[in-house]
Amino acid sequence: VLILGATGSIGRQTVEVVRSLARLHREGVSPDDFQIVGLAAGRDGAGLLRAAAELGVRDVSLGDGGALAGAGAHGLNVRLGPDGAERLVREVEADIVVSAIVGFAGLGATLAAVDLGRDVALANKETLVAAGEIVVARAARSGARLLPVDSEHSAVWQCVGESATPPCALGPEVARVTLTASGGPFRDWPRERCYNATPEQALRHPTWSMGAKVTIDCASLTNKALELIEARWLFGLEPSRLGAIIHPQSIVHALVEFADGSIVAQMGSPDMRTPIQHALTWPRRLPGVSLKAGALTNLEFHEPDLDRFPALALASEVMSLGGVSGAVFNGANEAAVGAFLAGRLLFGAIPEVATDAVHALVGSGRQPALTSLEDVRAADRAARERVQSGLERATRPAVTRRVGDTIHQ
Ligand code: NAD
Ligand code: MG
Repeated sequence: VLILGATGSIGRQTVEVVRSLARLHREGVSPDDFQIVGLAAGRDGAGLLRAAAELGVRDVSLGDGGALAGAGAHGLNVRLGPDGAERLVREVEADIVVSAIVGFAGLGATLAAVDLGRDVALANKETLVAAGEIVVARAARSGARLLPVDSEHSAVWQCVGESATPPCALGPEVARVTLTASGGPFRDWPRERCYNATPEQALRHPTWSMGAKVTIDCASLTNKALELIEARWLFGLEPSRLGAIIHPQSIVHALVEFADGSIVAQMGSPDMRTPIQHALTWPRRLPGVSLKAGALTNLEFHEPDLDRFPALALASEVMSLGGVSGAVFNGANEAAVGAFLAGRLLFGAIPEVATDAVHALVGSGRQPALTSLEDVRAADRAARERVQSGLERATRPAVTRRVGDTIHQ
């Protein structure tokens, strides 16, 4: 197993799962012997070295070369710089690559694994949002499988019987796929309060414990918007067969409605080790985390409030537009989340900024098919630049609608 984003929330949980699987192998429960052969991180040089030493891994990479300065990396093969993770993937043999770098930064290494025809356990949804059309086409060419780690997509995969392994195109027997969303910490907050929420409030997720970026995305429901687009590419679904529903308990992860009206849902505790393990051990089922007693009482489902959480509507628009619109949406969102965490943008402005970027940078009507990675990178750059210059000027209507309180200059 090669882990991209090894020092993050998914990366560390992957290490835990691999350790538990190794124990099961020693005890004779699992026939498969899992071993970690490579670790990639972004800036946490110390965390990377610690993990490599603990796990006895020799091949590593670090996105920010400076973060290793002065540290002892003796005996390790270290690849440094923005393309370090990509080189690690190309140079180290692995049966499965866990793609868990956060954001657009994960695109290059994920694509490298796809091009090599590896099994990719995919957590890095931003790669599919920005470049799903290209990733899926390249996977078709190389035979790479995209095994979902995102809990909702793992759920869909399990509901459809696991024989349809992504990337795939679900046929007309599947009428509709519904992803659940916890609703985040602001589920019941009035619009105004939600708009002005602080980073500290947004980082307090009620059911899941995750990295900062995805936690903010959950609070704005942008995470669900990104996941709808992710589902579109993994399962070949058009927007009319995709939806989201609020489910505060995070026990049911997705529901698949078949043509005859039967609905199959997948349940499990809100613990990412379950979908991570499923991606690693599929098609086997091995002992894992079970649901707490009593967790199945009072499961609630509500329609999402599109007025308070406009990101969901943007997902439909992006799916209809196609082309580079996903890259623009994702790039603008990443820049907006960064600005929010830095105290430069109000919470409620995050989806407004993303919507503005899509409207300003993408033409109206269906866009040409995405074939060039350079177009994706250019769209990502343009989206970030637009958000940045908006923050500097603070004159765009979306940002200045509430001058003074939207942007803390
Ligand atoms: P995180 O912030 O906890 O960790 C991110 C990891 O990526 C870190 O190891 C970091 O060092 C690494 N990284 C960042 N930039 C890099 C770069 N340029 N090169 C190499 N490595 C780099 O994030 P996370 O919560 O683990 O999320 C990772 C991905 O998984 C995201 O796409 C997220 O949406 C997805 N995901 C996370 C969860 C969750 O529970 N955390 C659930 C579903 C999906
Ligand atoms: Mg998810």
